Amino acid sequence: MSACKTCGAYLFPTFVKQHTCHPTWLVWDPDNGDEDSAKKVYALDAEDAAEKFIENSDYATECYSTLERDGVLVHVRGLDQSLTKVRVTAETAIEYSANIEDTPGVLGIAEEPSGDPT
Ligand SMILES: [Zn+2]
Repeated sequence: MSACKTCGAYLFPTFVKQHTCHPTWLVWDPDNGDEDSAKKVYALDAEDAAEKFIENSDYATECYSTLERDGVLVHVRGLDQSLTKVRVTAETAIEYSANIEDTPGVLGIAEEPSGDPT
């Protein structure tokens, strides 16, 4: 599957021609800079823009505990110049995995050890 070179959205082959990029938002972290430091983000809405901004920030790698504890408040400026303040939080998900360690015989009955009876 290919991705749009402009907005990065994944493109299903049958819908490539119908694709239009999501609107752009300016997102910044007011604790680490003002609006001049804002990044342009393609997103459906202000919340989506805030999540994408944080996912690509240092918070996602170096300051993850901040996201889990209090979250990070970011400012989002829309195309209509509206300003939305969005708090982004994160939580760790449990990942389950199953690994076979013993393979019983047919119908769950363990095979008898082979060898001559004495
Ligand atoms: Zn696009």
